[in-house]
Amino acid sequence: MAIDHPRHRTRLSALLLVALWALAESKYIAYNTTQRIVADKLNVHIVAHTHDDVGWLKTVDQYYVGSNNSIQGACVQNVLDSIIPSLLADKNRRFIYVEQAFFQRWWRQQSDEIKETVKELLSSGQLEFINGGMCMHDEAAVHYIDMIDQTTLGHRFINQEFGIIPRIGWQIDPFGHSAVQAYLLSAEVGFDALYFFRIDYQDRAKRKDLKSLEVIWRASKSLGLSADIFTGIFPKNYEPPPGGFYFEVNDDSPVIQDDPLLFDYNVQERVDDFVAAALSQANITRTNHIMFTMGTDFKYQYANSWFRQLDKFIHYVNKDGRVNALYSTPSIYTDAKYALEESWPLKTDDFFPYADNPNAYWTGYFTSRPAIKGYVRMMSGYYLAARQLEFFTERNSSGYTTDSLADALAIAQHHDAVTGTEKQHVANDYAKRLSIGYSEAEKLVGASLACLTEPTSSPGCYKMTTKFEQCPLLNISYCPPSEVDLSNGKKLIVLVYNSLGWKRNDIIRIPVISESIVHDSEGNEIESQLLPLADATVKLRSYHVKAYLGISPSITPKFWLIFPVSVPPLGFNTYFVSSTKGKGSVASVSTFYSSEESDNSNIKVGKGKLKLLYNVKDGTLTHYLNSRSLVKASMEQTYSYYAGDSGSGSDPQASGAYIFRPNGTFPIKPEKKAPTTIVRGSILDEVHQQINPWIYQVSRVYKGKEHAEVEFTVGPIPVDDEIGKEIVTKITTGMVTNKTFYTDSNGRDFIKRVRDYRSDWELQVNQPVAGNYYPINLGIYMQDDSTEFSVLVDRSVGGSSILDGQIELMLHRRLLYDDGRGVGEALNETVCVDGECAGLTVQGKFYVKIDPLGEGSRWRRTFGQEIYSPLLVAFSIEDGGDWTGSHTANFSAMDPSYSLPDNVALITLQALEDGNVLLRLAHLYEVGEHKDLSAMAYVELKKMFPARKISNIIEMNLSANQEKAAMEKKRLKWNTEGSSGVETIARGGPVDPSKLVVELAPMEIRTFLITFDYISFAKIGDHWNV
Ligand SMILES: [Zn+2]
Repeated sequence: MAIDHPRHRTRLSALLLVALWALAESKYIAYNTTQRIVADKLNVHIVAHTHDDVGWLKTVDQYYVGSNNSIQGACVQNVLDSIIPSLLADKNRRFIYVEQAFFQRWWRQQSDEIKETVKELLSSGQLEFINGGMCMHDEAAVHYIDMIDQTTLGHRFINQEFGIIPRIGWQIDPFGHSAVQAYLLSAEVGFDALYFFRIDYQDRAKRKDLKSLEVIWRASKSLGLSADIFTGIFPKNYEPPPGGFYFEVNDDSPVIQDDPLLFDYNVQERVDDFVAAALSQANITRTNHIMFTMGTDFKYQYANSWFRQLDKFIHYVNKDGRVNALYSTPSIYTDAKYALEESWPLKTDDFFPYADNPNAYWTGYFTSRPAIKGYVRMMSGYYLAARQLEFFTERNSSGYTTDSLADALAIAQHHDAVTGTEKQHVANDYAKRLSIGYSEAEKLVGASLACLTEPTSSPGCYKMTTKFEQCPLLNISYCPPSEVDLSNGKKLIVLVYNSLGWKRNDIIRIPVISESIVHDSEGNEIESQLLPLADATVKLRSYHVKAYLGISPSITPKFWLIFPVSVPPLGFNTYFVSSTKGKGSVASVSTFYSSEESDNSNIKVGKGKLKLLYNVKDGTLTHYLNSRSLVKASMEQTYSYYAGDSGSGSDPQASGAYIFRPNGTFPIKPEKKAPTTIVRGSILDEVHQQINPWIYQVSRVYKGKEHAEVEFTVGPIPVDDEIGKEIVTKITTGMVTNKTFYTDSNGRDFIKRVRDYRSDWELQVNQPVAGNYYPINLGIYMQDDSTEFSVLVDRSVGGSSILDGQIELMLHRRLLYDDGRGVGEALNETVCVDGECAGLTVQGKFYVKIDPLGEGSRWRRTFGQEIYSPLLVAFSIEDGGDWTGSHTANFSAMDPSYSLPDNVALITLQALEDGNVLLRLAHLYEVGEHKDLSAMAYVELKKMFPARKISNIIEMNLSANQEKAAMEKKRLKWNTEGSSGVETIARGGPVDPSKLVVELAPMEIRTFLITFDYISFAKIGDHWNV
């Protein structure tokens, strides 16, 4: 999206050419566009570009075909169609194209002849792919694994189809910029530079003064200068410079009129405008190279109307001679900067939060549309697991693939998708695509699991007898496959798959209709707990099943059946649920009502090492105690809301989809008569609290876990008082935290934040809350001199520490005004049943833990992976017979004696179409983050793939479109002001093909293309060999 650009003066030509008219002759002018860089002049690099949002006001397909034009006259097909003849008309013209989601739609519709032409234009460099992911992903509300996946998808397509490797990061529109984008998705991808424009307006002003809009960004503490990236921040926006240079057919900038026989001849005037714009930009830029970004959103739909003018500008400006204008691209511009061997200012950390005005912090979108954000995250973890299963059972063997989920997830990372800044109908489109992609992946997963469990007597996946079903709506307790009558002696088969590279002990919960018990695959009854479904849960379930599936479920489950599972790495285990009228152990339920009485005693919750204390008088949380670590802390948790500013005051800025502008904060007090219900069982205790009529909360303390889990259900947020509301929860401790807290960058590195402070400039504080909000994808934590307090999240949210010792998360927002950044709608999500609509209800979880200082990172990293990759649970029914006797009940793809080191995660295992396998391993710790785990890690591939022989292994760059060694060879080495450039950086060494051990240094992600000698179904004895 772009902000409306200022209207340009329509200038009346003052030139009086009447006298000349009689003498002049009108004829063909051959515009000279051949100009290249001139060393001793100011070089103006004209970069012709279009910014094509992969969905925003219209859906991705509507933008592509050019439908729904009453919303926005935009047709990407026109852009790509018209670019080709325009480039052919003059070989000096150049154009860059970015969004592969659009390009791929167009490409598959082209004739062989056009395809051949495009290939020639690409190889001559007239057409250049920039960025090259499926979309221009957001940088705040996205997880690094999704960023990698969507970039890989685009980059590999470009490489396979054209043999081309994009050189430049072009994140021109995202609303703030992350460290992970800089060091990981730029430097580690092999980009030579990264360009964008949205940084804080105060930061920009200072950088213009100091000529420091172009920097070397060293965003990783661990990888240091080995992951530096040259970064250019545009002075104003990604549009043409001020002075009237917009040339779409209906734009109103003055065109160059150079025919003396016609009125309004204006060549000199326009040349003066161009030179003035160039000198003004040169004033704030180092070196004699500046870039004019000639284009903006959905421009070049009739490309010739731009190129005609750009030809003339180049011709006449160069004739004028004051500056040198040339057709260029960001690659040519970058090479020109590099060739000068300048030293550039150093930038560390990131560019969050982003404000474009004193009351306009773009920190609302960190939370906007929390349901979509949750859905994207859930699909992301599922996609990772599904690709593993696709690999185990051979790609395409079931007729299903993960490709459609991959595409849907890729475009959902767009900066107007997961951000929540699109129109409602577009948000619905993203959700629909995810749902379609999920359905296919679900079939693939079901078939793969059936295949892997098949009777050993009939190897192969061709006669699968078992049908595995899954429950994507388990979060609202809807799971038809588990809500079955088992009184006839049938058993419910529960298969639990673990996509992590470590063995995992966890607790799962499924809804059942009667008292049940659980056996493991060896036939032993295991501990289980039955927990009555709360009324609030049942209500939520029936309402949303009606809303989303259009049906009213005929049965209502009575209990959650809860039991512990133990699952090997990259493998599954199987459990069996059977009915036992009256034999199951039902959790005891006790309810107390807050009273006016002055009873200040506490109730203790939790049977393991962690205990939470609640005040009997009002049901509030008071203390957090851990008997193992001896942490003992006061802890309070409250809800409150910010009233969204309506923009009716002197500054018309409203709080909206992008912007968070609070107008007062209001505590939400638990209602006097609201009961606090405590449910106690052998595996976990739960505290249920109806905070107010539209906030319900369940806090869980598991016997075997040392963190608390909080499940919130917020909505419908009432707006009858015509006040939009942004709901937050605050967790308050007595810690002395000196304004300091830490938030993650795209779920990866943690960055230090200091309230009301920026390291790059003297911050003028206008918005003491909104201006201290940061995006959170993994978690937020703070420390004092003895403990650290961490909160982890299940989706991206905004959060902060507005008071010392306190962490707050924004959970949901419902607003009534548009915030003026183009979307043109208030962020007011609803859900409808039978034509009656109510505000959207959002359910999610966060996790809370206090550790002794120095111990918190292990939980954040390990449990963070568990949140990202929840256990995948699939169901079937044992139809008589002896399942375990005839099926594979336990499986691990890895050697039984092996698991990945504690500090390494498997983030990609994917069978590619060409038969090769893509493998990515990630070190989970930063340098100095943990005393033992921030060390070099070693992964033994032979033990990861014990039954397959690796015949070839090639290390690739992050997006797997070139060999790592080739990328490193090409890497530009920039000079940095005040940096010696002799830092020692740890990196894992090359992989010896005979030993096959991968070394990973802190925060390293290493990507490999592996060829196995065979990928086939071979069953030896009882074990699958994959
Ligand atoms: Zn955009």
